[in-house]
Amino acid sequence: MQDCHAAGDRLSPGVLLGHGSRSMTLAPAALALMAVGACVGFAPAAARADDLQDAQSLYHSGKYADCIRVAAERIEERSWQESWRHLKIRAEFETGRYADAVATLEAALERFPSSITLHLLGRKVFLFGGRTEQAEKMLAEIDTMADQSRWRYTNSPDRIALGRFFLLRGADAKEVLEVFYDRVAKALPDYAETYLATGELALQKHDYALAAEAFARAAKLTPDDPAGHLGLARAYASSQPQQADQALARAFELNPNHADGLLMSADKLIDAEHYQEAAEVLNKVFAVNAEDPMAHAYQAVLAHLQGDPAAEETSRRAALKHWSTNPAVDHLIGRKLSQDYRFSEGAAYQRRALKFDPKYLPAKMQLSQDLLRLGEEAQGWRLADEVYEQDGYNVVAHNLVTLQQTLAEFKTLEADGFVLRMDAREADVYGLSALELLRRAKRELCAKYEVELPRPVVVEIFPQRKDFAVRTFGMPGAMGFLGVCFGNVITANSPASQGENPSNWRAVLWHEFCHVVTLQKTNNKMPRWLSEGISVYEEKQKDPSWGQSMTAGYRRMVLGGELTPVSRLSGAFLRPASPLHLQFAYFESAMVVEYLVETHGFQTVRDILNDLSTGTAIDTVLERHVGPLELLDAQFDQFARKRAEQLAPDADWQPPDLQPEEGLTAIADWTKQHPTNLAGLQLLAGRLLQEKKWQEAKKPLKKLLELHPEDLGADNAYLRLAAVHRELGETKAERSVLEKLAQRDSDALDVYLRLIELCKESKDWEAVAVAAERVLAVDPLLRAAHRELARAAEALHDPGRAIPSYRALLRMDPVNSTACVPARRAARMSKRKSPIMMHSCGSACQASQILQIAAGSGFTGASSRQTTGSSSSPRRDSSASVVGRLLRVTIPRAQPRAASVSRKACTPGNVVARRAPIRSCSSKIAQQRRASSGRIAASASSSGGEPSMPISPRIWSKSSALSTSVPSRSKITPRIAIGRPAWLVGQRACRLCFVRLFQIGIA
Ligand SMILES: [Zn+2]
Repeated sequence: MQDCHAAGDRLSPGVLLGHGSRSMTLAPAALALMAVGACVGFAPAAARADDLQDAQSLYHSGKYADCIRVAAERIEERSWQESWRHLKIRAEFETGRYADAVATLEAALERFPSSITLHLLGRKVFLFGGRTEQAEKMLAEIDTMADQSRWRYTNSPDRIALGRFFLLRGADAKEVLEVFYDRVAKALPDYAETYLATGELALQKHDYALAAEAFARAAKLTPDDPAGHLGLARAYASSQPQQADQALARAFELNPNHADGLLMSADKLIDAEHYQEAAEVLNKVFAVNAEDPMAHAYQAVLAHLQGDPAAEETSRRAALKHWSTNPAVDHLIGRKLSQDYRFSEGAAYQRRALKFDPKYLPAKMQLSQDLLRLGEEAQGWRLADEVYEQDGYNVVAHNLVTLQQTLAEFKTLEADGFVLRMDAREADVYGLSALELLRRAKRELCAKYEVELPRPVVVEIFPQRKDFAVRTFGMPGAMGFLGVCFGNVITANSPASQGENPSNWRAVLWHEFCHVVTLQKTNNKMPRWLSEGISVYEEKQKDPSWGQSMTAGYRRMVLGGELTPVSRLSGAFLRPASPLHLQFAYFESAMVVEYLVETHGFQTVRDILNDLSTGTAIDTVLERHVGPLELLDAQFDQFARKRAEQLAPDADWQPPDLQPEEGLTAIADWTKQHPTNLAGLQLLAGRLLQEKKWQEAKKPLKKLLELHPEDLGADNAYLRLAAVHRELGETKAERSVLEKLAQRDSDALDVYLRLIELCKESKDWEAVAVAAERVLAVDPLLRAAHRELARAAEALHDPGRAIPSYRALLRMDPVNSTACVPARRAARMSKRKSPIMMHSCGSACQASQILQIAAGSGFTGASSRQTTGSSSSPRRDSSASVVGRLLRVTIPRAQPRAASVSRKACTPGNVVARRAPIRSCSSKIAQQRRASSGRIAASASSSGGEPSMPISPRIWSKSSALSTSVPSRSKITPRIAIGRPAWLVGQRACRLCFVRLFQIGIA
C-alpha cells in the first residue's frame, strides 16, 4: 500500500508522472523519434568531467549550497556545458530557492533554447515560481521541437526526457516503457537515468517488482546517488520491509538530509501513530527547504490527526504557497487520512485535488477506493472504470474493474441494516446464519456502546483470497488477512478461501462488526490498538473460547518486560519483530481494554470513545479519564504481570536441567523430584507415548491438566490424553477430555469431528448436535457436519436445528435423477433477479417450499419413505432422501396448512430451488471422484439446459474424505495425536483480522 508519496515533486531525478492531461497513445511522430534514434548515445563528452562529477557528488550528498556555488562559478566562467545549469537549477529547487531556479532556468534557456531536458525542468520550476502559463508553454514547446526536429533528439538523456514528457501528456505507460526506456537500456545498458525513470514509472503504476529491479540496477550503476536506494526502499516497502529499511539507511548514509527519504520516514512514523517523531523528521526537511510542499502537506496530516483544524489549514496553505493548484498536495493529505481510516475526510481532500486538476489520476483512483470503503459503491466503481479507461497500465484500476465483474455474480442478502454479499453457493449454505449472527452482534454491541448505525452496513465475504485482497487493498496478495473493517464496510475471507484450517468465522464476524461499532462511535478517530483491543475483548466477552487468552509464550513476554507502553502500542502492529509479536500486540491491546474496564469501569471506555469522536488526541483523552500516561503504563504493567503470574500459578515454569537424549528412567526420576515442573512433565509424557506406555502416560498428562488447564498448545495434554484413552479403548474418558478441550478452543475442527463420532456411538444426539454446530462455526461448507447436525436434531425432534442443515445439504448436493426435470423446470421458472430478502418464516412456510420442490421432482411420497433407512448407510445421502427428511422434520408442525400457504408468503425464502443445479446421481458421483483427485467439476448437466454448479475442490475434497460419516479413527487419530503447529491448534493466531499467515510460515 505504500505509494511513492512525493514522487515527482522534486527535480531529481525525474519529473512528475501520470499527471496527464488526456489519455493518448504514442503518436507516429513519437515513434518516428525512436526510429531516428537508432544511434542512441550520450551527448558529446564533457571537458572537465571530473569537476562536474565532483559537483554532482555535492548534490547527491546534500551539500546543495556548495553545489550551487560551484555551478554558478562554472556558468560564470562561460562553461558551455548545459549540465552545470541542470545541477544549479536542481540544487536551488531542493533548497526552496524557486525564484533563483527560475532565473537560472531563463538564462539557460537563452543559451540552450532547444534543450528538451531544460524545458522539462522548466515546467516544474515555472509551476513553483507561480507561472502556470509559462509552465504549459514549456510542454507545448517540447511538443513542437520533438515534432519538427526529431533528428536532433537522439541521445539517451533526450530519449529519457521525451519518455517523461509523453507520460506527462498521458501517453500509454507501456508504450513509453517499450519505445523509450527499454530501447535506451538496450543501446546503453549502463545509463543509470533510464532505470530511475523506469522505476518511477513502475512505482506510479504499483508494479513493485519492476520498480525494484530497475532501482536496484540504478543503485548499482550510481552507488553514490541516493535516488536509486530510495526508489528501492519504496519498491520494497510493502513487501520486504527489512530490505526497504536497509535501502533507506543506505540513502541516508549518502545524504542524511535527503528530503524524499526523510518524507518516507515521516510517512512510516505517522502510520505507527508516532506523531511527535514524525514532526521532528519534518523539521529536518524544513532545515533544508522551509518551503517544501510535501513536508507542509505531511504537517497538515499531523495537525488533522491531532485535532487541530486551524494548523491543518495553515500547513495546507503553506504547501500550496508556490504552486497554488498543485493536486499532489491534497492527494497526499487525503491518502494519509484514508490510511488512518478517515475515509470521508480523505475523500474530501481527493475531491479538492480533482478540483485543481480534474484529470489527476492518482486522486481519482484514491477517491474511487475511498468511496468503495465508505460503501458509496456506484460512484466508486464508476471512478475505477474511468481511471482504467484513461490508464490501462494502472494495476489497481485493472484489478478493481475485474473484481466488479466477479461481484456482480454474488448473491445479496439484506436485512435489518445489513447488506451481505457472498458467493451465491456459499450464501445458500450459510448466508442466513451469517446474517443472523450480524443481527445479534448489532443488537448487543450497539446497545452496549450506545451507538446507532445510520446506514446499512455492507459485508462482503469472498471465496477467493485474491478477490478479497483486491477489494480490500486494491492489490492481490495480503495472504492471511481474515477480515478488514473500514467503518461501514466489512470485507472478509470465507472459510473456503482459508485452506485446510479455517478460523472460526463467527468469531471473525463478531470481531469485525465490533470495529464497525467503535469506528462509527468515534467517527473513525481512534488509535489502532484501541480498536483492535476492544474487538478482541468483545470476542472473549461473547464466547470465552473466542479472542485470545494468556499462553505460555505471552506469559514469558509479559514477565520478560516485552510489553509495549500504551502510548506506542499502535506501532506494535506495524512492524512486529515476529509473528508472535504481532499476535502479542492484539493480546496486549485487549488486555489494556480489560484493565480499563476492571479498574475504571466500562463507562470510562465509552467516555474515552466519546471524546475521541471529537478529534481529541488519545493521549489527552487517556490523561483526562485515567490519569497520567506514565501512571497508566506502570499500573497496566502490574496488571499484566499479575495476569501472567495467574497462569498455572502452582506450576514450576523453569526449564528442566535434563538432556534431550536422557532415558525414560532419568526423566521419571527427575519429575519425581520436580512434580510440578511443566516442561519435565511434558517430556515424561512424550517419552511414555513414544514408547506406547499408555497407562503410565496418564499420570503426567493428568497432572499437566491439573496444573495448566488452559494450555491449548500443539502438544497440549488434552490431545495427548485423548489419544491415550483412544488407544486403550476408553471411549467415555476420551470424550470427556475432548469436550473440555472443545469448550476452550473455537477452531479445533478435528476435535469436534472426533466428538461427533464418539457421541454418535453413544447416541447422545444433543452432544452430536453441539459438536456439529462447533464444526459449522469453523467450516460451514462441510456437508458431513450438516448431515450429522440434521440427523441429530431430527432424533431430538428439533426441526428448528434440522431444517437449516438439510437445506444446506440440498443446496450443496442438488436434487438428482431424471425424475428431477420438473423440479428443475420449476426452479428455473422461480428465478428472480432481485436480492433475496431475509425473512423469518415459520415451519408452514418452509414446508410449503419443500413441498413445491418435492412435488415438482416427484419425491413427495416415495422419497419420504425411502429416507427412513439407517443413517449409517455407507452411501451418501441422496438429495431425494434429504427432501424427504426435510419434509419429515417440517411437516409435523406445518402439515395441516402447508399446501394452502400462499406462494407469495413463501417467496422471500424460496431459495431452495432457485439456484440448485441439477445433476444426475451417476454424474454426481463421477464428479465427486474427479474432484477428489483435485479437479474442478464444472461440466454442464447431462440433460442440458442449466449449467452445473462449479464446485470448489475444497468442498468436494473435504466431503469426499468424510463421505460416509464423520472421519474414521484411522483418519483422525494422527491428526489429534501428532503435534500440529502451535498456532493452528492452540494459539489461534489466525482468528484476527490483520494476522498474516505467511509471516507465521505456512504460505
Ligand atoms: Zn481487527
